Amino acid sequence: ERLEYTQQMRQVFVSDASHELRTPLAAIRLLCESITQTENVDAETTREFMEDIILEVDRMSHTAEKLLVLSRLDSGSRTVFAPISLSDVVHKLITAFDPIAEAKSVTIESYIEDDCIISGDTEGTNQIVGNLIDNAIKYNNIGGTLRIYLFTKKDNCVFITDDTGIGIAPEFREHIFERFYRVDKSREHDGRGGSGLGLAIVKRNVEALGGTISVSDSVSGGTRFTVVFPSLTADEEVYD
Ligand code: ADP
Repeated sequence: ERLEYTQQMRQVFVSDASHELRTPLAAIRLLCESITQTENVDAETTREFMEDIILEVDRMSHTAEKLLVLSRLDSGSRTVFAPISLSDVVHKLITAFDPIAEAKSVTIESYIEDDCIISGDTEGTNQIVGNLIDNAIKYNNIGGTLRIYLFTKKDNCVFITDDTGIGIAPEFREHIFERFYRVDKSREHDGRGGSGLGLAIVKRNVEALGGTISVSDSVSGGTRFTVVFPSLTADEEVYD
């Protein structure tokens, strides 16, 4: 039964993936036809259409990249885990996302403890922290705030992104970790149409690390994501 279920899920995934790639391809074809089949298209219109084509190509590359990550995660190839400083990962990614936040006048406030160590892989950990920070900026309002917390609680490291953005209504929350799910399919955010794969990747990685992820309202009006990672104790670090 499990095998059959896995097989079915794979088929759904492949058909969803082809659908996601067919949509931008159809748009590109239409834009190309408009240029080639209209007589005397002026330079300005041609440029506008080409810019739209570039946007669609970027969207496809983004989706293809994320599909590759998911397929790697699905293949079940065991990643070797090693001690990782989550504090360093979070610090580095905040610096990397600073220009993107600045472009949207989003202020990042961070409260990060220095010694949060987990057992994991660098790629997976970066995907978790990076996707959550990216979303918290992308779905924030102009001039909004993103608060990032990292601290140790009992045997866990807790990572929180708390934004002042558009929020997620309770009825959509159970779906947002599904592949290709987007709350608002028609809207672009920061000129970036999402693939709906980011949170699926986050969840897979969190589970692989033995952690949990939850979503709730932020007291400041937007969304709060909380990831709980099992932390590596000093003893485990020595004997690992
Ligand atoms: P996408 O590529 O669309 O961002 P994700 O899988 O990362 O895909 O997120 C799924 C959906 O969850 C998004 O399309 C968006 O509707 C919603 N979402 C994710 N993060 C946030 C957030 N911080 N605030 C509001 N909505 C969010």
